Amino acid sequence: MAKPAKKAPEIEKFLTKLLGSSRIDAIEKDLCVPAPIGCGGPAKFFRNAISERDYTLSGMCQTCQDQVQALMDRMAREKH
Ligand SMILES: [Zn+2]
Repeated sequence: MAKPAKKAPEIEKFLTKLLGSSRIDAIEKDLCVPAPIGCGGPAKFFRNAISERDYTLSGMCQTCQDQVQALMDRMAREKH
């Protein structure tokens, strides 16, 4: 069972609102957060310790983290 990282209550509230259900609930069950943010699938395998730590913050599995990263890279490129 993964341990959800501690966050400021305001951020916690924002994330919970954003996700529609509790991020902590998903993390405690080793699941990805539900769609549309995540995929709701199992979140057990991570590429490295950074990704694993990311999961305790965002509740997103490796696949979803990769997708967000790709999206952010594209947005950063389009800005220039
Ligand atoms: Zn996912």
